[in-house]
Amino acid sequence: MIAENLKQVEENICAACKRVGRNRDEVTLVAVSKTKPVEMIQEAMAEGMVAFGENRVQELMDKLEKIKEPLQWHLIGHLQRNKVKYIIGHVCLIHSVDSFRLAEQINQESEKRQIKTDILLEINIADEDSKFGLKKEQVIPVLKQMAVLPYLRVRGLMTVAPFVENAEENRKHFQNMKKLMVDINQKNIDNVYMDILSMGMTGDYEVAIEEGATIVRVGTGIFGEREKKLQY
Ligand SMILES: *Cc1c(COP(=O)(O)O)cnc(C)c1O
Repeated sequence: MIAENLKQVEENICAACKRVGRNRDEVTLVAVSKTKPVEMIQEAMAEGMVAFGENRVQELMDKLEKIKEPLQWHLIGHLQRNKVKYIIGHVCLIHSVDSFRLAEQINQESEKRQIKTDILLEINIADEDSKFGLKKEQVIPVLKQMAVLPYLRVRGLMTVAPFVENAEENRKHFQNMKKLMVDINQKNIDNVYMDILSMGMTGDYEVAIEEGATIVRVGTGIFGEREKKLQY
């Protein structure tokens, strides 16, 4: 099932790229394996997948212990400051940074290990009360603060768009994310140049690609539905 799903997702990504004249290699597919067993990750690995997304630190650490092959792990869920120390050096990108205090903690733990950590700023692009993330108008001030943290690289922006029936409803939010990134890059803030746009999930990744996503995070579309109680 996973092999077939991956093939379908790959076809959809290619078609979306083609519709807007983008190269397939401008888009990275991250397979979101949260709540799913290691065996399913290994099935995806057998199909050539190397990038996986998890949203809980404990679950990520458990899986890291069981899978010895080098993979690209993406932390995509809300991150508490006291958990940062466990993941630094083990993840290639933290998608969900939404405060200066969290960035400071990541900087500090990265300094201890003498490595730079790549992060994205999570944006609450539709201003939903239920969502984590910075509001649009908070982004520039926070970026200016973060720009001086030497063990951190702010690589771009991430959003979890609203849950909608029709993916087209999210097109405007993806357009706003792209615009926000262009605006930020035009401000020429020292040490800030961003090129990663992480947006689009199973329901809307094709629209996200049409609007400029460079990373799409697909869970259900690859691994199937998650159990309701494990939905998070
Ligand atoms: C669960 C999750 C996804 C994947 O969601 P699907 O709809 O199953 O593709 C993507 N991004 C984040 C932040 C998630 O928590």
